[in-house]
Amino acid sequence: MKIKCLFYFLLFPLFTFAQNVHEPSETPKEWSAPYAPFRIVGNIYYVGTSDLACYLITTSKGNILINTGLSSSAEQIEKNVKTLGFNFKEIKILLTTQAHYDHMGAMAEVKKLTGAKMMVDEKDAQVMRDGGRSDYALGGKESSYTPVVTDRLLKDGDHIQLGNTNITMLHHPGHTKGSCSFVLNTRDKKRAYKVLIANMPSIVTDKKFSEIPAYPEIEKDYAYTIQSLKKQTFDIWLSSHASQFNLHEKHKPGDAYNPAAFIDRKGYDETLGELEAAYNKKIGKQ
Ligand SMILES: [Zn+2]
Repeated sequence: MKIKCLFYFLLFPLFTFAQNVHEPSETPKEWSAPYAPFRIVGNIYYVGTSDLACYLITTSKGNILINTGLSSSAEQIEKNVKTLGFNFKEIKILLTTQAHYDHMGAMAEVKKLTGAKMMVDEKDAQVMRDGGRSDYALGGKESSYTPVVTDRLLKDGDHIQLGNTNITMLHHPGHTKGSCSFVLNTRDKKRAYKVLIANMPSIVTDKKFSEIPAYPEIEKDYAYTIQSLKKQTFDIWLSSHASQFNLHEKHKPGDAYNPAAFIDRKGYDETLGELEAAYNKKIGKQ
């Protein structure tokens, strides 16, 4: 009897999560504004909204999609993939830089439409399965996105291989417990490029780090991520939000293919410097 009750207790909230998805409605308009898709470099394409970056990586054995934007962006991504001349159903692997609703909103739908496998940093697996409900900063009674079943858990340094493409995942916790960046090599007719898709460690919570019992390692994790990102080498960097890597200054809709526009170590170091300053201020360091 005791066991039965416990079982019921465990199951019941799962049903409740799945039925109550409440995506925040007050979001910046650039998050849902459509944006013309384009080829960034080699086999990496921008298929996101005006600010919520989503990347399509095409390979000889099907394609990879990183991030989805809000729930409303499923249709936009599908259209963008088509506009570029690719088959939406050829998406075989789904990834995210962080399990927040502005990057996961349409993930469950895209997974349903494509049958692709969801691979996630193991530390974001729980929050992904409850649709953000257990998130240490944005969590609450309701899910902020439709929960997604995870097919493979990734650890720091793990490789994601599809066809001729090999992506390395870097565990970059702080923003969420399982935030991560991705590194891959690509090339075009002229040359090879090392590309970093960086999850920049912006601070979500207004609370002091010491006041977050749900995430006791938060201060240490942010420090680790900032140091790790500083050490990365790359030719081109991209990020989870277009505004973070100044997409709109580097590219205008209709521009010809120009990967050189995204070669920008200086912008990367400046952005990271600002985030490190915010972190230092948060922990009371001068
Ligand atoms: Zn976020």
